Amino acid sequence: MPVQPIATPSGNPGEDPAANVAVVVVAAGRGTRAGGGTPKQYRDLSGIPVIQRTLSAFVGHPRIFWIQPVIAVGDDALYAAATAGLGGVGAPIPGGATRQESVRAGLEALAEPSPRFVLIHDAARPFVAVALIDRVLAALDDGADAALPCLPVFDTLKRVDPSGEHVTGTEDRAGFRTAQTPQGFRYDLILAAHRTAAGGQHTDDAAILEAGGRHVRTVPGDAENAKLTTEADFQAAERRLALFRQPRVGHGYDVHRLASGGGLTLCGIHIPGPLALIGHSDADVALHAITDALLGALGAGDIGEHFPPSDPQWKGADSTRFLAHALDLARNRGGIVAHVDVTVICERPRLGPHKQAMRAQLARILGIDLDRISVKATTTERLGFTGRGEGIAAEAVVTLML
Ligand code: MG
Repeated sequence: MPVQPIATPSGNPGEDPAANVAVVVVAAGRGTRAGGGTPKQYRDLSGIPVIQRTLSAFVGHPRIFWIQPVIAVGDDALYAAATAGLGGVGAPIPGGATRQESVRAGLEALAEPSPRFVLIHDAARPFVAVALIDRVLAALDDGADAALPCLPVFDTLKRVDPSGEHVTGTEDRAGFRTAQTPQGFRYDLILAAHRTAAGGQHTDDAAILEAGGRHVRTVPGDAENAKLTTEADFQAAERRLALFRQPRVGHGYDVHRLASGGGLTLCGIHIPGPLALIGHSDADVALHAITDALLGALGAGDIGEHFPPSDPQWKGADSTRFLAHALDLARNRGGIVAHVDVTVICERPRLGPHKQAMRAQLARILGIDLDRISVKATTTERLGFTGRGEGIAAEAVVTLML
């Protein structure tokens, strides 16, 4: 299957002589150890799929002119969904039955651009830093056949019997390193070594070069560049990402006119009675204020820009979809709604009996706990347009962790 070249900073693969590095991102594993039905590379991590985070780490690197994903047969739809909107990546190619076969397929696919160097990286390491990529490339520039990011072992290493229950010895940990990816290679050497080693069961690519008698140079790895393998790894990664989230507070305000009618909708709850709210959509003034508050927290304009009142498709629309749209925008940026506080200002209808239903409906729309939602009602002591019953106003504050 042919691969598609991606644009370099110079706009053309190979035009920049320094952009001589291709990356094979191996994403063909089933990831069964992490549990769940979805292979781990396609799972969401704070709203962004793991593989999208991993590929993004290489997109835009000035030396990398080609990014080659290798995926499992049948995963095309999962891949497309997980990488929607991500540019600068070649079309994925199908991998093999083992990691080694999948890497080989990726290397063979690079025969046409024939890069000087290739990086081979596991899709399940989404936290790869530019500094680590640069350390690997620096070793290759310095003449190494292969460059391997390694970490020292700080825990004491015990040898155990096959049952794992009995210690049979203690190793000198000073002589051991753990190996990470991206592993860097001269392309011609690693391609030839993979062809020679075909059918083997090597778990990393440096081992294939070692088996061929080539020298592999170590470079300092990065403890942050952890491989997501178990459920605990995912939880730790979520906690780490949460540390980088910052609160954003958005404010929204809206007014709709009252007229006589057969009831009105507030926070998605129908409130029967002799009054109705007038507007282009269902005129849910509370949902409009909350939607604007969420858009405000995102710095993403206002509800009128996203759903113009002049557009006939929003006539009579259920305003739930406006809030759902703003929520999608937030989630696409890894955002989590931490809290919503809305105040509805009117003399009539009396909202006390409906406030709990309104809260529950907001919790359902936003997918968050009830205790993160506040719905309040107040009057203006018969003063002003709300006091005269000419309209209902709503104010909302949304706290978004972004
Ligand atoms: Mg409105």
